[in-house]
Amino acid sequence: MITHVAFDADDTLWHSEGHYREAQAAYERLLGAYIDVADANVHARLLEVERRNIKRFGYGAKGMTLSMVEAAIAMTEARISATDIQRIVDLGVAVLEHPVELLPGIVEAVAEVAKDFTLLLITKGDLFHQEAKIARSGLSNWFHRIEIVSEKDVPTYRRVLDEVGIRPEQFLMVGNSPGSDIAPVLELGASAVYVPYHLLWAMEQGQGFDSASPRLRQVSQSSEIPTAVRSLAG
Ligand SMILES: [Mg+2]
Repeated sequence: MITHVAFDADDTLWHSEGHYREAQAAYERLLGAYIDVADANVHARLLEVERRNIKRFGYGAKGMTLSMVEAAIAMTEARISATDIQRIVDLGVAVLEHPVELLPGIVEAVAEVAKDFTLLLITKGDLFHQEAKIARSGLSNWFHRIEIVSEKDVPTYRRVLDEVGIRPEQFLMVGNSPGSDIAPVLELGASAVYVPYHLLWAMEQGQGFDSASPRLRQVSQSSEIPTAVRSLAG
């Protein structure tokens, strides 16, 4: 008996990955003044620094900014100017301050699901940035509880469920990320609605889940979420 439905935030409620991609494209253009960007494999080297730094800085735009600075210094062999370091910081600030753009149909979908279930919001990332986006989105009043966590894995979901006081059978997660919204939730014995977004962060690619699970539905857009939730709730 499903009683609680949780939504992911980035690329489930609002557009996110596109802003990071724009920042990284601008970063590559900027580094082009110093190095042969294609030859230096900037994308892969930045990703390598980001992967290493996740454990230090956590997820989000602030960690990405520090990684961009660190990788730029390494790739240019410390030739990058202070002016260009400032430009890299500004790219991160632009991601942090970007207006929230809700996905089409998501407000209606959240309102519809809220008629029958208690809603939670579970997102990982930078606390300050996520709080600001939730406030700007105008959606916060729909959610009974908002959890901004450092990692979305089985222990995290178990802790949230314990704090809410529900069993996995009562819980359903809606999200775009196979590795953090779907796989751990199914593993825990809860249900999930997978709503893929057209872009997926490189760090989250290649993470699979049990696509044959009877506790899973996949939909292609926000407007299909309420029907999928109801069909899993039975
Ligand atoms: Mg997401």
